[in-house]
Amino acid sequence: MERFQRPQIIRPPSESRSYFLPLTSGCSNNTCAFCSYYGSKLRLRELADIKSEIDALALYKDKSVYLPGRPDVICEIARNWDGKRIFLQDGDALVYPLEKLVPALEYISEKLPYVERIAAYATCQDILRIVPEDLRRLKELKLAILYIGLESGDDEILQKIGKGVDSRQMVQAAVRVKAAGIKTSVTVILGLGGTGGSERHVIETSAVLNRMDPDFAGALTLIMVPGTPFYQAWKSGSFVPISAFQSLRELLALIKYSDFSNCLFSSMHASNYFAVRGTLPQDKTNMTRKLEEMIRRQDPSSLRPEFLRGL
Ligand code: SF4
Repeated sequence: MERFQRPQIIRPPSESRSYFLPLTSGCSNNTCAFCSYYGSKLRLRELADIKSEIDALALYKDKSVYLPGRPDVICEIARNWDGKRIFLQDGDALVYPLEKLVPALEYISEKLPYVERIAAYATCQDILRIVPEDLRRLKELKLAILYIGLESGDDEILQKIGKGVDSRQMVQAAVRVKAAGIKTSVTVILGLGGTGGSERHVIETSAVLNRMDPDFAGALTLIMVPGTPFYQAWKSGSFVPISAFQSLRELLALIKYSDFSNCLFSSMHASNYFAVRGTLPQDKTNMTRKLEEMIRRQDPSSLRPEFLRGL
């Protein structure tokens, strides 16, 4: 059998101090035309292998013992770990079969009882495959937050990018996660509609995001990843990306049209040209004022330089 290769760490900004525990590598929905996981092959890790990493982590954390023969990366991640959070890799770790996911989480609770919160990326397909009762079981096992990529609320764009679900299913998945008591963090991508589809993208995205009513929402800005269909479309001229200041206009509209119960909204991700952060609805006026001022001044030096943008 092919040996499981530990994936690169791709994580939400808020998981910087987590321990990164791979359950899978790649993504089960590897068709998203803008994503670095495009065309990746999903691989599932053996449960025994996962348990043995948890054992090694517990030994390191509790007794400062690190057994030789282990990959150095485990020790490096453990050194930066806050001891409380675990982030399950990879692109949609929730695809890991439930009959193995439950024992993996039980094992974390048994060996690392001080872990307070487990997080993962999840596709809506993964979420809708899990019945509400099982989601509640995962919540009891400390699965506390799921990161969901809405990307766009425009069904045409969702279809075009190969997301595999429509906006109705996005809302359904978010509602199911929240009903299980698990927090939702939803990302959208500024610029995904290009210049022609910008207005529609932002209006539809805002409407769907409001219906998902997440606990956290993050805006990213489209980055052209070599090897993806979006990159090719950009190179051939069939996709025209929006400008940096247009991305700020999209961001402003998302905040202006937002209608959340209580959501920490941020554009702190490294792909963005400008970072704003605040709790909506309370901070709406402050956040919109800041963006309006930026758009009015049109000063490129106040934007994150292109070379510092990243995923
Ligand atoms: S955007 Fe998400 S679902 Fe789509 S390929 Fe990337 S990781 Fe997978």
